[in-house]
Amino acid sequence: MKIPLYYSKQQRIVFLMKKPTLLIIEDEEPIRQGLIDLFVFHGYDVDWAEDGKTGLEKALRGQFDMILLDIMLPEMDGYQVCEEIRRTDREQPIIMLTARSNEEDIISGLSLGADDYVAKPFSIQQLLLRVDAVLRRSRRLEQKQAHLNLPGNITVDTLNLTISLPSNKKEIPLTKREVEFLAYLCKESHRPVPREELLVKVWGYHPDAKIETRTVDIHVVKLRRKIEQNPKQPKILVTIRGEGYTLSS
Ligand code: CA
Repeated sequence: MKIPLYYSKQQRIVFLMKKPTLLIIEDEEPIRQGLIDLFVFHGYDVDWAEDGKTGLEKALRGQFDMILLDIMLPEMDGYQVCEEIRRTDREQPIIMLTARSNEEDIISGLSLGADDYVAKPFSIQQLLLRVDAVLRRSRRLEQKQAHLNLPGNITVDTLNLTISLPSNKKEIPLTKREVEFLAYLCKESHRPVPREELLVKVWGYHPDAKIETRTVDIHVVKLRRKIEQNPKQPKILVTIRGEGYTLSS
């Protein structure tokens, strides 16, 4: 089994103890078979489904460390599958496979709770890096603060993954990554944080991974829709041109 070299000794031991389990939901036979072969080769325990309905049943029945979910699927599309999984399991790591490069489609996938997306045609290296990063993050059982206080009397409940806004009586659900993103900006509140740093610290990518920084921007757009009164003129999660993102003070 191949273990990335940048893993610490502890991480490598954890990896050797348990094979990560993966569910691939993809209707196109050549792509599905390619993915199965790739992840079996890299030491994953792989199950698969050819349509959304079967995929959802397997996802709800089994325990998977990761689900790779195509969007255009027979029976039930990837968005619906993702939404249904999230209804019962907020922490299930899910990566969407999208043939579309349309930003709106990617955002709607992420809004339904996917942890990340990979656009087809994808490079094998990119896909492995992303799966690996999401897995590592979900395994990182860090002791976290129970609450974060953001500017504008906004409170984030980091255990229940919700955010409370003074303008809205309801608690809004956040994804794990959104909570980690906000937690990191809080910790570094004295300065704007560059996208490249966020990809390493929040997304868990290796500094040499060369992941496109648009990934960060897309998550910011989605997060602003949840927390800003006017997402087009953000007052809380602000962009400092040429420097990065910060929380307004
Ligand atoms: Ca498809």
